[in-house]
Amino acid sequence: MTSSFHPPIRTLMGPGPSDVNPRILEAMSRPTIGHLDPEFIRLMDEIKTLLQYAFKTTNILTLPVSAPGSAGMEAAFVNLLERGDKVIVCQNGAFGGRMKENVERCGGTAVMVMDDWGTAVDLDKVETALNSNLDARVLAFVHAETSTGVLSDARALATLAARYDCLTIMDAVTSLGGVDVDADGWGIDVIYSGSQKCLSCVPGLSPMTFSARAMEFIRNRGTKVQSWFLDMNLIMDYWGGSARRSYHHTAPINALYALHEALVILKEEGLENAWQRHARHHRALVAGLEAMGLSMRVALQSRLPQLNAVNVPDGVDEAAVRSALLERYGLEIGAGLGSLAGKVWRIGLMGFACNQKNVLFCLSALEDTLSSLNVPITQGRSLQVARTHYNIR
Ligand SMILES: *Cc1c(COP(=O)(O)O)cnc(C)c1O
Repeated sequence: MTSSFHPPIRTLMGPGPSDVNPRILEAMSRPTIGHLDPEFIRLMDEIKTLLQYAFKTTNILTLPVSAPGSAGMEAAFVNLLERGDKVIVCQNGAFGGRMKENVERCGGTAVMVMDDWGTAVDLDKVETALNSNLDARVLAFVHAETSTGVLSDARALATLAARYDCLTIMDAVTSLGGVDVDADGWGIDVIYSGSQKCLSCVPGLSPMTFSARAMEFIRNRGTKVQSWFLDMNLIMDYWGGSARRSYHHTAPINALYALHEALVILKEEGLENAWQRHARHHRALVAGLEAMGLSMRVALQSRLPQLNAVNVPDGVDEAAVRSALLERYGLEIGAGLGSLAGKVWRIGLMGFACNQKNVLFCLSALEDTLSSLNVPITQGRSLQVARTHYNIR
């Protein structure tokens, strides 16, 4: 007989999902109501207002797409592209490669601006690409590359795009809630994010925002959006400012209770405070890792606080370390992807998981695991250094 599933208790310090705040799980277990119930419509309005706060925007078309971050990515491209369109795609990790896939599946041409995995998008290269492709309509880039732990300069990229009259698509799946995302201040046209990274909500939703310019383009497209489900012209009637609220699909009611709670938690803490918290715990973690003799992959100026790529020492079986952490400590950290596979561990400090307890726990679990596997590290220093960061004696 199969019986109910009871997941083990883990500490999620990988590239996502991150630990979900119990308040969010509790919100999710409340009774399901109809998706056109006036009370649910009221909740949708609140979610929109809270998302506008999180994205720092007044955009009317600000909503959670009913599917994970990857669907947000797809929604951005299918709505903003028509067959034959040229897009400058910046790739400095795994997710830029998926953007290229999306452009090509929309019948567009992707002009790739390639940077090494572990470095930020190079603005000079982007400018050169814009300058030699004056017919490009869109510039697409990943703000926070989760595959490498790199933050790129979104404001500067948006400024360049504006100079060349391009619309912008930005992946903020890992950045939203962890570092500044300023949709209106930077003038980004389409941003998609994810529920399960720094918002610490359950996976499966993709918050998005579209500028007036993007909406205008979508409304006046010459061809239909190739995806019926992700066509914003249809979704606008359900989520948009109008009172129509016509049926499009059944919203994931309980998941939206969860997102609402996650956004209320973010608002209670305050955006700036959330970014500062991520930065503070990141500094303590890095200091502890370096005291152990480990090194960081990414240069100081482009490190993401919420995703820490740590070099795997030579000769170490990185997968064995991750398995031991999971088995002995119930601690999940991430492996390297693509060209960094086998070369780095990715330690997430996202949302609810970004706290002092987890930093100290991760450092001690890692130190114990590495020394038990005879990896030559400095023992007995890491926690002391991290505690100094927290002013704990
Ligand atoms: C996780 C992630 C995605 C995909 O999100 P899913 O919710 O896994 O579909 C896209 N872009 C970046 C940068 C991510 O970190």
